[in-house]
Amino acid sequence: MIIVLKPHPTPEVVRHVLERIEALGLTPHLSQGVARTIIGVIGDEEKLQVQPLLAIPGVEQVVPILKPFKLASREFHRDDLTIEVKGVKIGGGHLAMIAGPCAIESEPLLMEVAGQVKEAGANILRGGAFKPRTSPYSFQGLGEDGLKILQAVGVQFGMPVLTEVMDPRQVEQVERYADIFQVGARNMQNFDLLKEVGKTRLPVLLKRGMSATVKDLLMSAEYILAQGNRRVILCERGIRTFEDSTRNTLDLSSVPNVKGLSHLPIIVDPSHATGRPDLIPAMARAAIAAGCDGVHVEVHSCPEKALSDGPQALLPEQYTRLMDSLRQLAELMDKTIDVPEIDVPEGETVSCARC
Ligand code: PEP
Ligand code: MN
Repeated sequence: MIIVLKPHPTPEVVRHVLERIEALGLTPHLSQGVARTIIGVIGDEEKLQVQPLLAIPGVEQVVPILKPFKLASREFHRDDLTIEVKGVKIGGGHLAMIAGPCAIESEPLLMEVAGQVKEAGANILRGGAFKPRTSPYSFQGLGEDGLKILQAVGVQFGMPVLTEVMDPRQVEQVERYADIFQVGARNMQNFDLLKEVGKTRLPVLLKRGMSATVKDLLMSAEYILAQGNRRVILCERGIRTFEDSTRNTLDLSSVPNVKGLSHLPIIVDPSHATGRPDLIPAMARAAIAAGCDGVHVEVHSCPEKALSDGPQALLPEQYTRLMDSLRQLAELMDKTIDVPEIDVPEGETVSCARC
Protein backbone atom coordinates (compact mmCIF):
# COMPACT_ATOMS: atom_id res chain seq x y z
CA MET A 1 0.00 0.00 0.00
CA ILE A 2 0.97 3.60 -0.48
CA ILE A 3 -0.29 6.04 2.13
CA VAL A 4 -0.39 9.64 0.96
CA LEU A 5 -0.52 12.13 3.82
CA LYS A 6 -2.42 15.41 3.72
CA PRO A 7 -0.15 18.26 2.49
CA HIS A 8 2.48 19.70 4.89
CA PRO A 9 2.04 17.27 7.81
CA THR A 10 3.67 18.24 11.10
CA PRO A 11 6.37 15.88 12.48
CA GLU A 12 3.87 14.81 15.18
CA VAL A 13 1.32 13.76 12.54
CA VAL A 14 3.97 11.78 10.63
CA ARG A 15 5.15 10.10 13.85
CA HIS A 16 1.59 9.23 14.82
CA VAL A 17 0.85 7.68 11.43
CA LEU A 18 4.07 5.62 11.59
CA GLU A 19 3.17 4.41 15.10
CA ARG A 20 -0.34 3.44 14.07
CA ILE A 21 0.95 1.48 11.07
CA GLU A 22 3.40 -0.39 13.30
CA ALA A 23 0.63 -1.08 15.82
CA LEU A 24 -1.31 -2.76 13.00
CA GLY A 25 1.64 -5.16 12.60
CA LEU A 26 2.85 -3.55 9.36
CA THR A 27 6.20 -2.02 8.36
CA PRO A 28 6.18 1.64 7.23
CA HIS A 29 8.77 3.10 4.82
CA LEU A 30 8.74 6.90 4.89
CA SER A 31 9.46 8.93 1.77
CA GLN A 32 9.35 12.67 2.38
CA GLY A 33 9.27 14.64 -0.88
CA VAL A 34 9.09 18.40 -1.35
CA ALA A 35 5.43 18.34 -2.31
CA ARG A 36 4.16 15.13 -0.72
CA THR A 37 4.84 12.80 2.17
CA ILE A 38 4.29 9.20 1.21
CA ILE A 39 4.53 6.11 3.36
CA GLY A 40 4.98 2.71 1.78
CA VAL A 41 3.41 -0.02 3.87
CA ILE A 42 4.64 -3.55 3.56
CA GLY A 43 3.37 -6.58 5.41
CA ASP A 44 1.14 -9.58 5.51
CA GLU A 45 -1.39 -9.18 2.69
CA GLU A 46 -4.18 -10.10 5.10
CA LYS A 47 -3.36 -7.25 7.45
CA LEU A 48 -3.23 -4.76 4.59
CA GLN A 49 -6.75 -3.40 4.83
CA VAL A 50 -7.54 0.06 3.40
CA GLN A 51 -10.15 1.12 5.97
CA PRO A 52 -8.05 1.00 9.19
CA LEU A 53 -5.27 2.92 7.43
CA LEU A 54 -7.68 5.53 6.04
CA ALA A 55 -9.00 6.12 9.56
CA ILE A 56 -5.63 7.40 10.82
CA PRO A 57 -5.70 11.22 11.20
CA GLY A 58 -3.50 12.97 8.63
CA VAL A 59 -3.98 10.28 5.98
CA GLU A 60 -5.43 11.57 2.72
CA GLN A 61 -5.32 8.54 0.47
CA VAL A 62 -4.51 4.84 0.61
CA VAL A 63 -3.53 3.30 -2.71
CA PRO A 64 -2.82 -0.41 -3.15
CA ILE A 65 0.34 -1.22 -5.14
CA LEU A 66 -0.74 -3.91 -7.54
CA LYS A 67 2.78 -4.79 -8.71
CA PRO A 68 4.57 -7.59 -6.85
CA PHE A 69 7.53 -5.31 -6.16
CA LYS A 70 6.57 -2.50 -3.80
CA LEU A 71 9.58 -0.60 -2.40
CA ALA A 72 11.26 -0.87 -5.82
CA SER A 73 8.26 0.60 -7.60
CA ARG A 74 7.83 4.06 -9.07
CA GLU A 75 4.52 4.32 -7.21
CA PHE A 76 6.41 4.20 -3.94
CA HIS A 77 9.15 6.62 -4.97
CA ARG A 78 8.12 8.96 -7.78
CA ASP A 79 11.46 10.73 -8.34
CA ASP A 80 14.59 9.05 -9.67
CA LEU A 81 16.84 7.91 -6.83
CA THR A 82 20.30 9.44 -6.59
CA ILE A 83 22.89 7.40 -4.70
CA GLU A 84 26.07 9.08 -3.52
CA VAL A 85 29.34 7.29 -2.81
CA LYS A 86 32.36 9.39 -1.82
CA GLY A 87 31.33 12.33 -3.98
CA VAL A 88 30.17 10.27 -6.95
CA LYS A 89 26.45 10.51 -7.58
CA ILE A 90 24.68 7.73 -9.45
CA GLY A 91 21.21 8.31 -10.91
CA GLY A 92 19.06 11.42 -11.15
CA GLY A 93 21.19 12.84 -13.98
CA HIS A 94 24.58 11.55 -12.75
CA LEU A 95 26.48 8.81 -14.56
CA ALA A 96 28.55 6.10 -12.86
CA MET A 97 31.52 5.29 -15.06
CA ILE A 98 32.74 2.02 -13.58
CA ALA A 99 35.89 0.46 -14.99
CA GLY A 100 38.67 -1.95 -14.08
CA PRO A 101 39.85 -5.48 -14.63
CA CYS A 102 37.54 -8.46 -14.25
CA ALA A 103 39.72 -9.85 -11.45
CA ILE A 104 42.24 -8.30 -9.09
CA GLU A 105 45.39 -10.12 -10.14
CA SER A 106 48.16 -8.14 -8.43
CA GLU A 107 48.73 -4.70 -6.94
CA PRO A 108 50.95 -3.43 -9.81
CA LEU A 109 48.39 -4.49 -12.41
CA LEU A 110 45.48 -2.90 -10.59
CA MET A 111 47.54 0.27 -10.03
CA GLU A 112 48.31 0.43 -13.71
CA VAL A 113 44.71 -0.05 -14.85
CA ALA A 114 43.32 2.25 -12.13
CA GLY A 115 45.66 5.07 -13.19
CA GLN A 116 44.63 4.67 -16.80
CA VAL A 117 40.87 4.45 -16.30
CA LYS A 118 40.91 7.35 -13.87
CA GLU A 119 42.82 9.43 -16.40
CA ALA A 120 40.22 8.45 -19.01
CA GLY A 121 37.40 9.74 -16.75
CA ALA A 122 36.14 6.67 -14.87
CA ASN A 123 34.79 7.59 -11.44
CA ILE A 124 34.47 4.13 -9.82
CA LEU A 125 37.10 1.36 -9.84
CA ARG A 126 36.01 -2.27 -10.16
CA GLY A 127 37.84 -5.54 -9.60
CA GLY A 128 36.80 -9.00 -8.46
CA ALA A 129 38.39 -10.71 -5.45
CA PHE A 130 35.85 -13.55 -5.39
CA LYS A 131 35.21 -14.76 -8.93
CA PRO A 132 32.15 -16.81 -9.91
CA ARG A 133 33.82 -18.99 -12.57
CA THR A 134 32.00 -21.54 -14.70
CA SER A 135 34.85 -23.98 -14.14
CA PRO A 136 36.11 -24.86 -10.64
CA TYR A 137 39.60 -25.13 -12.18
CA SER A 138 39.67 -21.50 -13.37
CA PHE A 139 41.22 -18.69 -11.30
CA GLN A 140 38.85 -18.09 -8.38
CA GLY A 141 40.21 -14.71 -7.26
CA LEU A 142 42.67 -13.58 -4.57
CA GLY A 143 40.03 -13.42 -1.81
CA GLU A 144 40.85 -11.15 1.12
CA ASP A 145 44.31 -10.34 -0.29
CA GLY A 146 42.54 -9.03 -3.39
CA LEU A 147 40.18 -6.93 -1.28
CA LYS A 148 43.15 -5.35 0.49
CA ILE A 149 44.78 -4.49 -2.85
CA LEU A 150 41.53 -3.03 -4.17
CA GLN A 151 41.02 -0.84 -1.13
CA ALA A 152 44.62 0.39 -1.18
CA VAL A 153 44.54 1.19 -4.91
CA GLY A 154 41.17 2.93 -4.54
CA VAL A 155 42.66 5.18 -1.85
CA GLN A 156 45.84 5.77 -3.91
CA PHE A 157 43.82 6.97 -6.90
CA GLY A 158 40.99 8.58 -4.98
CA MET A 159 38.31 6.31 -6.41
CA PRO A 160 35.44 4.49 -4.70
CA VAL A 161 35.73 0.74 -5.28
CA LEU A 162 33.22 -1.93 -6.28
CA THR A 163 33.66 -5.67 -5.89
CA GLU A 164 31.56 -8.81 -6.05
CA VAL A 165 30.31 -10.65 -2.98
CA MET A 166 29.20 -14.22 -3.69
CA ASP A 167 28.20 -15.66 -0.35
CA PRO A 168 26.30 -14.33 2.69
CA ARG A 169 29.30 -15.41 4.83
CA GLN A 170 31.57 -13.01 2.90
CA VAL A 171 29.42 -9.92 3.37
CA GLU A 172 31.04 -8.69 6.58
CA GLN A 173 34.53 -9.12 5.17
CA VAL A 174 33.81 -7.46 1.82
CA GLU A 175 32.05 -4.58 3.59
CA ARG A 176 35.30 -3.77 5.40
CA TYR A 177 37.12 -3.04 2.12
CA ALA A 178 34.56 -2.06 -0.52
CA ASP A 179 32.47 1.04 -1.17
CA ILE A 180 29.86 -0.75 -3.30
CA PHE A 181 28.88 -4.43 -3.28
CA GLN A 182 28.32 -6.19 -6.56
CA VAL A 183 25.85 -9.05 -6.59
CA GLY A 184 26.61 -10.88 -9.82
CA ALA A 185 24.25 -12.31 -12.42
CA ARG A 186 24.66 -15.84 -11.07
CA ASN A 187 23.62 -14.73 -7.61
CA MET A 188 20.72 -12.45 -8.52
CA GLN A 189 18.34 -14.88 -6.88
CA ASN A 190 20.56 -15.93 -3.99
CA PHE A 191 17.95 -14.65 -1.57
CA ASP A 192 20.03 -15.18 1.57
CA LEU A 193 22.80 -13.07 0.01
CA LEU A 194 20.31 -10.37 -0.97
CA LYS A 195 18.95 -10.26 2.59
CA GLU A 196 22.45 -10.04 4.03
CA VAL A 197 23.58 -7.12 1.81
CA GLY A 198 20.20 -5.55 2.55
CA LYS A 199 21.22 -5.28 6.20
CA THR A 200 24.38 -3.31 5.41
CA ARG A 201 25.03 0.37 4.78
CA LEU A 202 26.77 -0.03 1.40
CA PRO A 203 25.11 0.52 -1.98
CA VAL A 204 24.51 -2.68 -3.94
CA LEU A 205 25.01 -3.06 -7.68
CA LEU A 206 22.56 -5.84 -8.52
CA LYS A 207 23.20 -7.51 -11.87
CA ARG A 208 20.39 -9.02 -13.89
CA GLY A 209 20.55 -12.81 -13.99
CA MET A 210 21.19 -14.24 -17.42
CA SER A 211 17.77 -15.90 -17.48
CA ALA A 212 15.93 -13.35 -15.39
CA THR A 213 13.09 -11.10 -16.50
CA VAL A 214 12.95 -7.41 -15.61
CA LYS A 215 10.28 -8.33 -13.06
CA ASP A 216 12.59 -10.95 -11.50
CA LEU A 217 15.32 -8.32 -11.27
CA LEU A 218 13.01 -5.89 -9.49
CA MET A 219 11.80 -8.63 -7.13
CA SER A 220 15.44 -9.31 -6.20
CA ALA A 221 15.97 -5.58 -5.59
CA GLU A 222 12.89 -5.72 -3.36
CA TYR A 223 14.64 -8.31 -1.15
CA ILE A 224 17.47 -5.84 -0.50
CA LEU A 225 15.16 -2.85 -0.01
CA ALA A 226 12.89 -4.78 2.36
CA GLN A 227 15.86 -5.23 4.74
CA GLY A 228 16.27 -1.45 4.96
CA ASN A 229 19.05 -0.81 2.44
CA ARG A 230 17.54 1.64 -0.04
CA ARG A 231 20.68 2.08 -2.12
CA VAL A 232 20.27 -0.41 -4.94
CA ILE A 233 21.70 0.13 -8.42
CA LEU A 234 20.40 -2.21 -11.10
CA CYS A 235 22.64 -3.48 -13.88
CA GLU A 236 21.69 -4.82 -17.31
CA ARG A 237 24.45 -7.20 -18.41
CA GLY A 238 22.79 -9.19 -21.16
CA ILE A 239 20.59 -12.27 -21.15
CA ARG A 240 20.83 -15.71 -22.72
CA THR A 241 19.12 -16.06 -26.09
CA PHE A 242 19.60 -18.32 -29.13
CA GLU A 243 22.09 -15.78 -30.54
CA ASP A 244 25.56 -17.24 -30.17
CA SER A 245 27.77 -14.68 -31.91
CA THR A 246 27.80 -12.60 -28.72
CA ARG A 247 28.36 -13.82 -25.17
CA ASN A 248 24.86 -12.69 -24.18
CA THR A 249 22.20 -10.52 -25.80
CA LEU A 250 22.12 -6.97 -24.49
CA ASP A 251 18.50 -6.14 -23.67
CA LEU A 252 18.72 -2.38 -24.00
CA SER A 253 14.96 -2.05 -23.79
CA SER A 254 15.30 -2.98 -20.13
CA VAL A 255 16.68 0.52 -19.48
CA PRO A 256 13.55 2.54 -20.38
CA ASN A 257 11.47 -0.43 -19.19
CA VAL A 258 12.98 -0.26 -15.68
CA LYS A 259 12.81 3.54 -15.71
CA GLY A 260 9.05 3.34 -16.12
CA LEU A 261 8.64 0.77 -13.37
CA SER A 262 11.17 1.86 -10.78
CA HIS A 263 12.98 4.86 -9.32
CA LEU A 264 16.21 2.85 -8.94
CA PRO A 265 19.19 3.77 -11.12
CA ILE A 266 20.11 1.31 -13.84
CA ILE A 267 23.51 1.01 -15.42
CA VAL A 268 24.62 -1.10 -18.40
CA ASP A 269 27.54 -3.53 -18.67
CA PRO A 270 28.34 -3.95 -22.37
CA SER A 271 31.43 -6.05 -21.53
CA HIS A 272 29.60 -9.10 -20.16
CA ALA A 273 26.62 -8.41 -22.43
CA THR A 274 28.58 -8.78 -25.67
CA GLY A 275 31.86 -10.42 -24.63
CA ARG A 276 33.39 -8.60 -27.60
CA PRO A 277 35.63 -5.52 -27.46
CA ASP A 278 34.58 -4.58 -31.02
CA LEU A 279 30.94 -4.24 -29.91
CA ILE A 280 31.43 -2.65 -26.50
CA PRO A 281 31.82 1.01 -27.61
CA ALA A 282 28.67 1.03 -29.78
CA MET A 283 26.63 -0.66 -27.04
CA ALA A 284 27.98 1.70 -24.38
CA ARG A 285 26.93 4.69 -26.47
CA ALA A 286 23.52 3.15 -27.17
CA ALA A 287 23.09 2.55 -23.43
CA ILE A 288 23.72 6.21 -22.61
CA ALA A 289 21.36 7.24 -25.42
CA ALA A 290 18.72 4.87 -23.97
CA GLY A 291 18.86 6.83 -20.70
CA CYS A 292 20.91 4.61 -18.42
CA ASP A 293 22.68 5.93 -15.32
CA GLY A 294 26.15 4.63 -16.06
CA VAL A 295 28.33 2.19 -17.90
CA HIS A 296 30.41 -0.67 -16.49
CA VAL A 297 33.38 -1.74 -18.62
CA GLU A 298 36.18 -4.25 -18.06
CA VAL A 299 39.63 -2.89 -18.88
CA HIS A 300 42.96 -4.75 -18.81
CA SER A 301 46.40 -3.58 -19.84
CA CYS A 302 47.25 -6.98 -21.30
CA PRO A 303 44.01 -8.86 -22.10
CA GLU A 304 45.83 -11.91 -23.44
CA LYS A 305 47.41 -12.48 -20.02
CA ALA A 306 44.25 -11.72 -18.02
CA LEU A 307 43.27 -14.43 -15.54
CA SER A 308 39.56 -13.83 -16.13
CA ASP A 309 37.45 -12.44 -19.02
CA GLY A 310 40.53 -11.35 -21.03
CA PRO A 311 38.87 -11.70 -24.46
CA GLN A 312 36.25 -9.07 -23.63
CA ALA A 313 38.55 -6.54 -21.95
CA LEU A 314 39.16 -3.17 -23.56
CA LEU A 315 42.72 -1.90 -23.66
CA PRO A 316 43.19 1.29 -21.63
CA GLU A 317 43.64 3.33 -24.82
CA GLN A 318 40.38 1.91 -26.22
CA TYR A 319 38.65 2.85 -22.98
CA THR A 320 40.05 6.37 -23.20
CA ARG A 321 38.61 6.77 -26.72
CA LEU A 322 35.29 5.34 -25.57
CA MET A 323 35.13 7.75 -22.63
CA ASP A 324 35.81 10.69 -24.97
CA SER A 325 32.70 9.82 -26.97
CA LEU A 326 30.63 9.01 -23.87
CA ARG A 327 31.44 12.42 -22.39
CA GLN A 328 30.03 14.10 -25.51
CA LEU A 329 26.91 11.97 -25.33
CA ALA A 330 26.52 12.67 -21.63
CA GLU A 331 26.51 16.38 -22.38
CA LEU A 332 23.88 15.92 -25.07
CA MET A 333 21.75 13.93 -22.62
CA ASP A 334 22.26 16.60 -19.94
CA LYS A 335 24.03 14.16 -17.62
CA THR A 336 26.97 14.76 -15.30
CA ILE A 337 29.97 12.52 -14.67
CA ASP A 338 31.11 13.35 -11.13
CA VAL A 339 34.72 13.31 -10.05
CA PRO A 340 35.19 11.42 -6.75
CA GLU A 341 35.92 13.37 -3.58
CA ILE A 342 38.52 11.17 -1.94
CA ASP A 343 41.76 12.70 -0.75
CA VAL A 344 44.80 11.06 -2.28
CA PRO A 345 47.27 10.43 0.61
CA GLU A 346 49.67 13.33 1.01
CA GLY A 347 53.33 12.88 0.23
CA GLU A 348 52.73 9.71 -1.75
CA THR A 349 53.20 9.63 -5.47
CA VAL A 350 50.44 8.20 -7.53
CA SER A 351 51.92 6.43 -10.45
CA CYS A 352 51.10 3.48 -12.60
CA ALA A 353 53.42 0.59 -13.34
CA ARG A 354 54.03 1.91 -16.85
CA CYS A 355 55.21 5.41 -15.96
C1 PEP B 1 31.85 -9.58 -13.40
O1 PEP B 1 31.41 -8.44 -13.25
O2 PEP B 1 33.04 -9.84 -13.53
C2 PEP B 1 30.86 -10.68 -13.56
C3 PEP B 1 31.17 -11.94 -13.24
O3 PEP B 1 29.69 -10.26 -14.04
P1 PEP B 1 28.31 -11.05 -14.27
O4 PEP B 1 27.83 -11.44 -12.92
O5 PEP B 1 27.44 -10.03 -14.97
O6 PEP B 1 28.60 -12.24 -15.16
MN1 MN C 1 34.15 -10.30 -15.71
